[in-house]
Amino acid sequence: METIIKKIQRDNIDQETIKEAASLLKEGKLVAFPTETVYGLGANGLNPKACENIFKTKNRPADNPLILHISNIGMLYNLVSGVNEDAKKLFDLWPGPLTIIFKKSKLIPDVVTAGGDTVAIRFPKDEIARRLIEEANLPIAAPSANISGRPSPTKASDVYYDLNGKIPMILDGGESQIGIESTVIDLSSEIPTILRPGFYTYEYIKEILANLKLDDALIDDNKIPKSPGQKYKHYAPKAKMKIFVGNKAFDTIYQQAKAYEEKGLKVGILTFDDRINEVSKAYAISLGQRDDLRQMSHMLFSALRKMDRMKVDIILAEGVSEKNLGKSIMNRMKKSASGNVEYL
Ligand code: AMP
Ligand code: MG
Repeated sequence: METIIKKIQRDNIDQETIKEAASLLKEGKLVAFPTETVYGLGANGLNPKACENIFKTKNRPADNPLILHISNIGMLYNLVSGVNEDAKKLFDLWPGPLTIIFKKSKLIPDVVTAGGDTVAIRFPKDEIARRLIEEANLPIAAPSANISGRPSPTKASDVYYDLNGKIPMILDGGESQIGIESTVIDLSSEIPTILRPGFYTYEYIKEILANLKLDDALIDDNKIPKSPGQKYKHYAPKAKMKIFVGNKAFDTIYQQAKAYEEKGLKVGILTFDDRINEVSKAYAISLGQRDDLRQMSHMLFSALRKMDRMKVDIILAEGVSEKNLGKSIMNRMKKSASGNVEYL
């Protein structure tokens, strides 16, 4: 299959392009499109065959449910079996990088929820995503548009690298503004629980829902996560990765890089603006200013993909403290590194 990349300008969205992409979705085909978090691999969320095709195309484990994307809150009521007061409070954060888990309605195919009785819903803010969903007039199932296990795609070329020849169309709307995935909150049981940390932080949402808690697995690495997607190897670059956190992190990376280089290895380094000039720029990437967590989350996945393209043998990365957005960033980084973190 030939994969067509269609450029689309966010500030001047071409309706014909949106219509073309929406017709593919209505025919049961897959279309990758930008959202404010990462690029999504979209399919008609009410068509089981189309959703099965998402799993095949991404090589996604069948027990990892999909998020359905809507373009207005009205669409929600057919898809879920009840909307409680907590959900209504969270609607203030919609459209935006927040996914809410509800008890599902009968309309939802089993393949979407991996056989479970709950469904994940997101109302994205990205104008291209919204216009596409509106034109298709369907809930759109859209996991990240990467091969499962790889870093999430934040631009059309990342999607092309993973899915070229497997899907008919990629809408190219430039870089995703945020760069890490949505926060997933479960409202289907008694206590609202964050299952996946994301752009909206625990601290921020707790101001809205005072009894909010974090899934046990986000506090204790030995607990089994409630969100199936959290248990898999994820976001992984091709090279082995080690993370260092704390005051001595950079100096340790510096020493270890030297030792690996003496053995003839190509060492990739992830650090920040204040130290980047101390290492050879060839395989080092700065994730911005040390205290700018938004910039860091925006750049992380694209930096990991760049490491792949540079074919480094090992990646030594500076991590951050797990507060606010740092919690979400470290959630992704630790999975990238298969839990290999040293606190110094
Ligand atoms: P992605 O594959 O990037 O779209 O991520 C979707 C995330 O949402 C994964 O971690 C899924 O496991 C999680 N998710 C989707 N639906 C549900 C659900 N019904 N219950 C719990 N987690 C879900
Ligand atoms: Mg994903």
